[in-house]
Formats: sequence, structure tokens, C-alpha cells
Amino acid sequence: MNLILGHKIALDPNEAQRTYFARAAGTARFAWNWALAEWRRQYAAGEKPTEAALRRELNAIKREQFPWMLEVSKTAPQQAIKNLGDAFKRFFDHTAKYPRFKKKGIHDSFRADNGADTVTFDGKRIRLPVIGWIRMCEPLRFVGKVRSVMVSRVADRWFASVTVKIEHQVPACENQAVVGVDLGVSALATLSNGEKVEGPRALRCSLKRLRRLSRSLSRKRKGSANRRKAAAKLARLHKSVSDIRQDALHKLTTGLCRRFSVIGIEDLNVRGMLRNGKLARAIADCGFGEFRRQLEYKAVMHGCSIAAADRWYPSSKTCHVCGCAKDKLPLSVRQWQCDGCGAEHDRDINAAHNLERLAASSAVTACGAEGSGVRLAPDTKPAAKKQEPVDGLFVHD
Ligand SMILES: [Zn+2]
Repeated sequence: MNLILGHKIALDPNEAQRTYFARAAGTARFAWNWALAEWRRQYAAGEKPTEAALRRELNAIKREQFPWMLEVSKTAPQQAIKNLGDAFKRFFDHTAKYPRFKKKGIHDSFRADNGADTVTFDGKRIRLPVIGWIRMCEPLRFVGKVRSVMVSRVADRWFASVTVKIEHQVPACENQAVVGVDLGVSALATLSNGEKVEGPRALRCSLKRLRRLSRSLSRKRKGSANRRKAAAKLARLHKSVSDIRQDALHKLTTGLCRRFSVIGIEDLNVRGMLRNGKLARAIADCGFGEFRRQLEYKAVMHGCSIAAADRWYPSSKTCHVCGCAKDKLPLSVRQWQCDGCGAEHDRDINAAHNLERLAASSAVTACGAEGSGVRLAPDTKPAAKKQEPVDGLFVHD
């Protein structure tokens, strides 16, 4: 089986390389914004803009109008406009919102390879076209054909997101174990075998510090050196919070895929839940959407199946012993007793049991199956596919 995996590696560039990165990211951002403005203008004039035509257009005028664009590799602006084309495609497919203009300091990334075989790796070094050898903080994790390299900035560090096409052998299935996983706010995950996985609560622990830092930032005078320093400090804290959260999710999802062959989960409406103000912070802290994304690609790698329950399936309110459902069960109720059979339930463990039963009854042949997730709900839309890799691994198509 061929897989495309991503590895995001922290870089250790020298001053000249940093300057080049910033310039290339600026050029890519400019190309995106130029093409978006042009797209809107052409559309309003009744024309039919395409990304290919816009790329030709920019190429024709850049020597005259934007000569500074020639200082960086041409792939950076070209890929930015291709990405805009993809963004419009997602918009027309109703999986994403209308593309927006990019902002300096938030969107600093560019494509660094010039196509096939233009990038070389040597231990903890990467050789990029135009730039040359750059030190990395760790070697590339995969052996295979390098497809693309995106260089991006998070807080004050630069990263290379490398996608590699690898030949993957799905390991032989050792067990047929089925598990139900209930994601929660009090515990990160509850398994149907009674295990509770505590989340790191990275955000909550750092919330006090975040609040203090952002207050201190808002007191600094705009444009001052102190404001810039405070902003950098805050950005680093945000990054560290996201790293801690990501690490916990990776450990959880890897563990699940290694130990079980059928995994029953809830199809959580993450967007809808984030709109619920009270819960929003706790949910964003747990990273439910990210949990699902990781579980799906790791299931493919390990040959497991995912059974997602219908969004409206009352996994918490149904007694897993007798099957009768309660009308109401507020989130604050952690323990409850079934009216039908009198069984005492822990809210999360009971939900996990229901998800396990549902997963088992979906009659999935776990071993040898293609590993794609089995959906019990035909009415749910697939989540919007993001093009840029998030931290760590990812799979696309
Ligand atoms: Zn009961």
C-alpha cells in the first residue's frame, strides 16, 4: 500500500537563511493576496478566473511591476496561487469558507522544493533549492520519495513540513479486540474496558500565564520593541500549549490503533459544540477534531476499522445493560441509575460500552479490510480536508 506521510521538522537556520525564509514567505503571501484580489475583480466583471490563468498573468507582469519577486525561487509565488485555486475548489465543494486575504505574522509559509528530486536529505541536514544546506533539529523520519517541502513559521521558529510517499506494509492483525471510546471533558477519553485516559489539560494549566501575558502585551505601546518581545513570548506559550496537546493525542490514538482492531467512536459535531460558549474552551483544549483526524490515518496504517456512531445516537443516555434510554441527562450528572433495570452507571463508561456494542454490531471484518472507516451514519458530511499539514503526521488521498 502506498501512503503519503508528513513530517514537520524544526529547522535551525542561520541569519541569511532566516532572511530568505521571511522574504520567500512574504512573496508567497503577496502572490496569494494579489491573485485573490484579481480573482474577485475578474469575477465581478463577469469573467471566469482560474488559477492557471492567474499564474500566467502574474508571470507576465512580475518582471516589470514586482521585480523583487525574482529574488526568491519562483515556486513560492506559483504554489501560493495553486493553493488559492484549491481553496476555491473547497469553497465550491462546500467544505470550506470563501478564501481570505493572508496576513503577515500569521500566514508565513512557502513551498520550498522545485518539483521532483530537488531536495536532498543528509542526516540532520536538508538541502533546498536556492538556499542550500540547512540544519534540522531531527532527521527525516521516513524513507521514500519526497513529494513536497513547505517551510513555515510558528512563533519565532521555522519548520519544514516534508511529505513523503512510502511503501507501507499493514502489520498482521494480532487481535480482534473491539473497543468503544467516549471522548469527554472531565477525562480526555474513557474506554469501554473501564480505562480512563486523563488529558494533560495543557491549556487550563497555562491559562493563567496566557492571561497574564496577553494583558501585559495589551499594555505595551504599539510599534515598540517591548510589544514585539511580549508578542513573541505569548506566541511561544501558545505553541508549547499546542505541542503538549498534540503529544497527548498522538499517544492516545497510537495506543488505540495498536491495541484494538475495531474502534467505536462518537461522530462529534465539533463545530456545533464549539459554538456552545461554556464548553468551547474545554473542548478546544481536548482537540476532538484532531483526535478524529489522527485516528483515521493511523487506522489505515494499522489496518483497524473505525465505526463512527450517528451524531444523534444517545450513547450517554442509553443504558448499556437493558437498552432503555433516559429522556434527559444533563452534562453535570456523572453517575446515574437506570430506571428500567436499576443498574448504576458511570456516565462515560456507559457511553463507551454503547459505542463498543455499536462497533461490534457493524460486523466489520477487521483483518485484511482496507482499513477505511466504517460509517454508521449515512447523513454525515465528511470533514473538510486541509491541505497544509498540522503538527506531526498526516495522510492525504
Ligand atoms: Zn438498564
